[in-house]
Amino acid sequence: MNSPKHPVVILGGGIAGISAALELAKLGHEAALIEKSPFFGGHAAHFCCKATDKCQKCGACLVDQRLRELFQAPDIALYPHTELTHAERGNGHFRLAFKSKPDIIDPTRCIDCGICYDECPSIDKGAVLVAASATQHPRYFIDPEGCLLSHECLLQGCQRMCPAKAIDLTREDSAFELEASAVIVATGYQPADPASRPHYGYGRLLQVITGRELEEKLRLGEDLTRPDGQPARRLGFIQCVGSRDRLHPYCSRVCCAYGLRLAKLIRHHHPEVEAVTFYMDIQSIGADPAGFQAEACQAVHLVRAMPGGLQASPEGSLIARYLDESTDQPVSREFDLVVLAVGISPGKDNPDLAEMLDLTLTPEGFFQSLDGEHRTGTTQPGVFLAGTAEGPRSIAECISQAAAAAREVHEYIKALV
Ligand SMILES: Cc1cc2nc3c(=O)[nH]c(=O)nc-3n(C[C@H](O)[C@H](O)[C@H](O)COP(=O)(O)OP(=O)(O)OC[C@H]3O[C@@H](n4cnc5c(N)ncnc54)[C@H](O)[C@@H]3O)c2cc1C
Repeated sequence: MNSPKHPVVILGGGIAGISAALELAKLGHEAALIEKSPFFGGHAAHFCCKATDKCQKCGACLVDQRLRELFQAPDIALYPHTELTHAERGNGHFRLAFKSKPDIIDPTRCIDCGICYDECPSIDKGAVLVAASATQHPRYFIDPEGCLLSHECLLQGCQRMCPAKAIDLTREDSAFELEASAVIVATGYQPADPASRPHYGYGRLLQVITGRELEEKLRLGEDLTRPDGQPARRLGFIQCVGSRDRLHPYCSRVCCAYGLRLAKLIRHHHPEVEAVTFYMDIQSIGADPAGFQAEACQAVHLVRAMPGGLQASPEGSLIARYLDESTDQPVSREFDLVVLAVGISPGKDNPDLAEMLDLTLTPEGFFQSLDGEHRTGTTQPGVFLAGTAEGPRSIAECISQAAAAAREVHEYIKALV
């Protein structure tokens, strides 16, 4: 098919947006992929592979695979650190305005040596960010918001040290417009706020971490230790944090799977570690849910109860108190680390984007879809949804739904010409 006059604009460069762009390219369309952060891949780029002696089908490796394809695709224009500021439609297409943070590192010159990161005096303020995936180029991003941009830095800092002369700290924000034949909203989610369960003490008790943090630690190969440096030998996982409560009545659909896979992975490498998972119900996982659960039970002790709270012990561990389902008696159990399996909350920008694109949000705050099967269509002709922007789903589900969104766009554009 001939390329349409205007590209398809995809908002959000996570696994859903990337998959939609790749599918559109296969169908013969040009796509513009707009990503608010400096790097593509979204949350899933920060996850670890959960394979034990066999693949656990967690989907984390699909992200690097898709990123590699993305960076080689000729018909996909990439706009990192860019966001939508205005949208209007007329004559059957969209006119979209964007603003971008500056490309302080010139991608055509950068050699990804990392000197800017290693030498930056403002690294703790996030002046130089590093992509999770080594497939990204440049792998580093200088954020003007954290950068000192001081006279000394201009004279002696990264700009001067960069061996490829790729850095220009004087570059400024820019604005531009694109005309689009269709728009796909794939702006994803934010992990549920662990503070929504204050009795678990996240932020106050340093032995309490989130599932997102555990994913990242394992991806980076970090040891699991308590804050006092002792190895963490007793791990507790608390499911449904930020899901299935009064404020978030829905199920996030991925936490049982990632929580159990993480626990199994740790036990596989460290059989001496004890893992206990506190849950309400276990969701169906994979093609053989009963088989998955039976295997998980061999590695993890499943306790159907939610601890009422966590308390620090004088020895540096945490004490969880819960009601034993079989005896109806209160029980206390000690852990070195407790992992809160945070769920999927609606994206922060959803209300603003919904207003700009004239879309409706669900009562929970996700984008409302129209069609039942793939849930990609919206009330606005030419605006489609992909991935967790529409509601909780796994990486594999995001990929297949994004492909469905791309095919819907293809049919929509065919009907226009
Ligand atoms: C702790 C945790 C662990 C998980 N582990 C697994 C797992 O092991 N396996 C699995 O299958 N699933 C897992 N999931 C679910 C998985 O994270 C999602 O299925 C997947 O990442 C969703 O991809 P997405 O593209 O829809 O969204 P995201 O990953 O959120 O990507 C959206 C992208 O859009 C960008 N964006 C946001 N707003 C804007 C804007 N206004 N303009 C432009 N860009 C914007 C964001 O920066 C981001 O890059 C896990 C979820 C959590 C919370």
